Amino acid sequence: VRVPKQRPVPGEALDAIVAILELVRRGRAHSRTELIERTGLSRSVVTQRVNELLARGFLVESVAPSTGGRPPRQLEFRADAGHLLVADIGATSIDVALADVTGRILARMGEGTDVADGPEIILARVDRLFERLLAEYPVRGELWGLGIGLPGPVEFATGHPISPPIMPGWEGYPVREHFADRHQVPVWVDNDVNIMALGEWRDGLAHGQRNFIYVKVGTGIGSGIVSNGLIHRGAQGSAGDIGHIQVVGGTGELCRCGKVDCLEAVAGGAAIARDGVALARQGQSERLARILAERGAVSARDVIRAARSGDGPALRLLDRSATLVGQTLAGLANFFNPSHIIIGGGVANAGDAYLATIRQVIYARSTALATRELLVQLSRLGNRAGVIGAASMVLDELFSEGQLARWIDQGRPAALYGVAA
Ligand SMILES: [Zn+2]
Repeated sequence: VRVPKQRPVPGEALDAIVAILELVRRGRAHSRTELIERTGLSRSVVTQRVNELLARGFLVESVAPSTGGRPPRQLEFRADAGHLLVADIGATSIDVALADVTGRILARMGEGTDVADGPEIILARVDRLFERLLAEYPVRGELWGLGIGLPGPVEFATGHPISPPIMPGWEGYPVREHFADRHQVPVWVDNDVNIMALGEWRDGLAHGQRNFIYVKVGTGIGSGIVSNGLIHRGAQGSAGDIGHIQVVGGTGELCRCGKVDCLEAVAGGAAIARDGVALARQGQSERLARILAERGAVSARDVIRAARSGDGPALRLLDRSATLVGQTLAGLANFFNPSHIIIGGGVANAGDAYLATIRQVIYARSTALATRELLVQLSRLGNRAGVIGAASMVLDELFSEGQLARWIDQGRPAALYGVAA
């Protein structure tokens, strides 16, 4: 559906339009009356801008089911005005999804991978998954934009990975350009934990919270920080990289970043697998020794399974990981005073004992004020948080005042292609 070209939006009208779209898009206002109440704008301004947004095809008016009398009209953001493609590229998996422009996921697929295969191979696989999604799921409206998550530091302004420790060959790779040139739409790229934090904020346990931390304990360890209702990316985009905070009492484990005793190098999934192999070789765990003999390798998942079946050394390995993660998070709780710490990732799902240990260490080591109302919970969205958050990121950017001003007159975000930043 092509949105007809309209006369230009005057500058002073844009503030009102941004505010109205924000409220309707997030489902916080459903009528002109609610918009007047929440924006503080006059009835005539709201009426005029809403009519304009209806004419431009951004909003639709539906008749809500009524119990009698005149049926109330409901304002809604037009979900099928366009669509989004999003990908959450992890260290060992790719998740892609198609979303409508309210951020709802319409279809999702994924496959296992190894991000160390390098950008050409991995991005080509993402392209093929996008083609399959579009072939299998008929969409209406134009493609409005793409959102990509990568398992390493990303300079948000350029969409380029910066010194990614687990991603050889990705340094400075033009990920944004790869997708933007192919689809001729704006593209945003961010760290995978930042988009997962956004996903938790949109649909998860941290829904609507203004200050929280999402922590992923997977192959590596990282966190996304939402501060005062916004993702805190820091000066270069590396905020939240807690996997490389040094732990107390380390034994000199070399991290992939080149330093020693980073949290990730001692407590992450790759570290648990490495230590699992050691337990097997030293004959401390019969179960892990059997797995190593059969398969020539031990994974973090094998250690978790062994722990679940009561294997003592495997249990102690996971307990050490949880304790170190908890100690690091205790420092963060003191520093940042989040209302929620949401924990996700493969290792975090090791079992109730893992979460219980993290909680216990955080509560024991943080100040009373920082933990008085702090909730430490396991993510219920799991992997889905990534694609949900990537769609959310694209919409937040498209409807930010700075970006909207550059495309609203054309009625389609493709106008931002090549200039989005
Ligand atoms: Zn490190």
